[in-house]
Amino acid sequence: MCNTATRFTLSDQALERGHQQYQATMTESNRVIRDSLLTPFAMAMKLEGFEAVTHPSGCMLFRECPECRETYSTKYRKAGVIYWACPHCRDVAMDDREAIQREKRERVLAGEKVVMSNQELDGWSDAGMPLNVVSLPNPDRAGLKDVWVVYTKD
Ligand SMILES: [Zn+2]
Repeated sequence: MCNTATRFTLSDQALERGHQQYQATMTESNRVIRDSLLTPFAMAMKLEGFEAVTHPSGCMLFRECPECRETYSTKYRKAGVIYWACPHCRDVAMDDREAIQREKRERVLAGEKVVMSNQELDGWSDAGMPLNVVSLPNPDRAGLKDVWVVYTKD
């Protein structure tokens, strides 16, 4: 499994490991609070290095899956990046905003000039990316002050 993919399907092998852990840790007291679909999937994700991102109350965060429209696409974090993973169709996708940021970084690293917002620049700094920030007028939106072009150091 490629750890840097922006989207992938959780493998049969990974899901099988989740099911094995689910069976191995089953007790009479936890049987009732477990779900035979959600719990093995959550265990498989954890074994793959994904930590569930929880609400301060401890609840997991869900959304509708954009692929299959089921409701339990779950928020995870791995290596500081946010992902959504669906136990129904097993689609694991980098958060849309993260995917856009990643695509922009790849374009900059490929030598393209890319317009970034101040918020995006902060994200670059946090990620430890080499920066050479130059303020230039945006050719698409002349006159705006809040647009920047970012280059790598070299
Ligand atoms: Zn789905």
